[in-house]
Amino acid sequence: VTTETLVVTDAALDPDKFMLDGIDTSKNPHFTVSEVAKVFFARSSHWIRWLETKHAFILDSTDPSCPHGEPDPNEPGETLSWMEPVTLHGQIISVCTHCSGEDTAARRTEKGARVYTLGDIEKMTHALAGGGHISGAQASNALHLVRTCARIWEYLA
Ligand SMILES: [Zn+2]
Repeated sequence: VTTETLVVTDAALDPDKFMLDGIDTSKNPHFTVSEVAKVFFARSSHWIRWLETKHAFILDSTDPSCPHGEPDPNEPGETLSWMEPVTLHGQIISVCTHCSGEDTAARRTEKGARVYTLGDIEKMTHALAGGGHISGAQASNALHLVRTCARIWEYLA
């Protein structure tokens, strides 16, 4: 896994800064896995699920080779996750106890379905770009859309 710098040509979209940092976007809108894949990345929900197996949504890991889990000795073929819930700025995020990487795509509904907020999608986009899973242009487009949606929902002016 290479760590590439997110190249964004729009000065308003600083690659080192998160537009929605410190803004609680958890109430609305909520996007399904297929909505995020289709609207922000022109892909299918299968693509997101496949990227999850590649740990492509882990952001700010201190160890690029970290597996974020270990084989479960009691359940062959299963994995014991090292991801633990951590409260950051009043929000619960999922962080690896080994590498401190955040799983930006960890949010689930009460019934266990994948669900994503605008804040999640912004972080996911940075994680994908950092891992080379999308291009800088794709990241720029997704972040522009996140910003537009955040304006529509009045999180940003
Ligand atoms: Zn890890």
